[in-house]
Amino acid sequence: MNRLLLPVSLNPARYILFDASCIVGLNRPHFGPTGTQITRRSPPHYSGNCFMHTLHRKRPTLLATAFVPLLVPLLLIALLTGCGQSDNTNTAPSMTVKAKTYNWKLVTTWPPNFPIFQEGVERFADDVKILTGGRLNIKVYAGGELVPPLQSFDAVSQGTVEMSHGAAYYWAGKIPAGQFFTAVPFGMNAQGMNSWLYAGGGLELWRELYKPHNLVPFPMGNTGVQMGGWFNKKIDSIADLKGLKMRIPGLGGKVFAKAGGTPVLMAGGEIYTALDRGTIDATEWVGPFHDERLGLYRAAKYYYYPGWHEPGPVLELNVNTTAWGSLTPDLQKAIETAASASNLWMLAQFEAKNFEALAKLKNEHHVQVYEFPAEVISELRKLSTVVLEEEAEKNADFKRIYQAYKTFADNHGSWSELSEEAYAKARKP
Ligand code: CA
Repeated sequence: MNRLLLPVSLNPARYILFDASCIVGLNRPHFGPTGTQITRRSPPHYSGNCFMHTLHRKRPTLLATAFVPLLVPLLLIALLTGCGQSDNTNTAPSMTVKAKTYNWKLVTTWPPNFPIFQEGVERFADDVKILTGGRLNIKVYAGGELVPPLQSFDAVSQGTVEMSHGAAYYWAGKIPAGQFFTAVPFGMNAQGMNSWLYAGGGLELWRELYKPHNLVPFPMGNTGVQMGGWFNKKIDSIADLKGLKMRIPGLGGKVFAKAGGTPVLMAGGEIYTALDRGTIDATEWVGPFHDERLGLYRAAKYYYYPGWHEPGPVLELNVNTTAWGSLTPDLQKAIETAASASNLWMLAQFEAKNFEALAKLKNEHHVQVYEFPAEVISELRKLSTVVLEEEAEKNADFKRIYQAYKTFADNHGSWSELSEEAYAKARKP
């Protein structure tokens, strides 16, 4: 069919029929196409080198009459706004356009099936899938399944994968100030950290710090106050720490070194054997639940509290900045909401499972649990301040964030004295 019907106006009832051959300059008359419901045809008239008729069609349907005049401006708007694209920026999914589906990868720093940690990340991915109606699917990989655990930061930063889960202090070599967003010795507990991050400007500082690394961080998990660790001898004074080899990472390790000990870096999987064989004299890990599962009670006799070095470590979710920017606001909100839910879920799990495991350690494995003597804690607290001040002198970001952290921690602490701490004392018989 080489005949064309062209509208002569926005009235769909009036068309000019001409033969496409006119376009190439052939001069011949023509007739209406088969099936066109022509009701009246004007006498042929000559225009340029073509014969033409103005055709009057049968009355168009009401629908066409009503909507065709609107069609042109709507098409223009669609072209200008790109609203026909599947990754539109509307906050609600389009009813007429199939929404884009995203398939993302999340790599963690945890072993496969690592309770609470890896479990919490799997739950997060499930929550996001439900909240987005399946538009954002996140496949979770444990440490080493796709990238080595300690390369997960770089993998997200470079955009190899969209997300990672770990802890900010793992990247202390690269970003020393990041340690404030996990835990610092004698710093804030989980409640204080959540207050600082969500309501005290902490999260804004964290995002600013990670921005040059192309990452958007979210708090996602907290272990609560950890245990002080397992020792192969009794600790009665600060002098007993001298010469001890202890697996203790981060700033806590630096404080331990100031006390005369030797901090050792070691992955979780190596700890039991090292302690059992005497390669190390002491270790910290997490808390009763994870420590019991690792069997540390079989390798050392003395179990100390509190975990002065890790009073409420925050776990982090990192999202690649470009990938984050490609999401519609509703998908971004789903990630933010699911990360907050996971933050709460993990802390609740630790709080509920640690006391059960502690009872098992005491009653079934006959573990002796000791509180660090007040003198040891007092000395470690002083040494912690020394370490933080020293680190602040080495790095401007560390100094700036340390000041913000300390101001909030001091203010929050003064309120906590009259609230949580006073109540904890009050409820004791
Ligand atoms: Ca720990």
